[in-house]
Amino acid sequence: MSSRPRFPARLDRPGAAAPLPPVARTAPVQALVRPQGLGLDSQAVRLAMVNKLAAQGIQDTRVLQAMGRVERHRFVDTALATQAYEDTSLPIGLGQTISKPNVVARMVELLLAGRTQPMGRVLEIGTGCGYQAAVLSLLVQEVYSIERLRGLHEKARENLRTLRLPNVHLLFGDGMAGFAQGAPYAGIIAAAGGEALPQAWIDQLAVGGRLVAPVAAASGRQALLVVDKTAAGVQHTLLEAVHFVPLKSGIA
Ligand code: SAH
Repeated sequence: MSSRPRFPARLDRPGAAAPLPPVARTAPVQALVRPQGLGLDSQAVRLAMVNKLAAQGIQDTRVLQAMGRVERHRFVDTALATQAYEDTSLPIGLGQTISKPNVVARMVELLLAGRTQPMGRVLEIGTGCGYQAAVLSLLVQEVYSIERLRGLHEKARENLRTLRLPNVHLLFGDGMAGFAQGAPYAGIIAAAGGEALPQAWIDQLAVGGRLVAPVAAASGRQALLVVDKTAAGVQHTLLEAVHFVPLKSGIA
């Protein structure tokens, strides 16, 4: 079920294991989003998006930098490209959506919180158009991203083809079973929400690892759940309400 994306191309990155350069928390956001060979056409509008993310409370400069570097407009249909940097979810086909920039940034920030070293292997459930996988690829050592809809798996492959991201591994399959071959994962991040957390995800999380996923909360609505796996056990922290597409089983 696994297949590696056929790259190369160009989204300059400092190397899989190399941390992004440290930037003081007080640095102006402009300093975080220097043009880095991505072309300048959409740079200003992306900078505005990053400024807004910072104003909304995203503080991790590594995350702001990564969000400033990935060209989100390349992951949506041409007709929607002008909306790509607005804080809105957008359709990506087959009834699915790319999450709002704020939600992507928030989840990735939670995933990395408290870590000073680059995270190792991360499993993403729900590749969708591949945008979040591209963001993660700038922040962690290896990204395994699994999608259950073949059409979107192929779309993500196409979207990522023109980027040079050798640390992204696209998988076609049912992410409810995780991806045991890549386990254990330092991080797991889900872009689709189910009733309960699949046990496979907890099993495949490394001790010291963290999972961030939307789950059904008691209210019947979805909320973000952070799970930390320690030698002493598994700790759950339920956070704010979110609205993700449903986690479904099987492939299609
Ligand atoms: N991270 C994505 C968001 C995609 S939306 C992006 O940046 O575009 C969530 C995705 O999860 C959808 O594409 C949906 O098909 C997928 N999904 C839902 N259940 C799944 C499962 N069991 N395994 C893998 N993918 C799943």
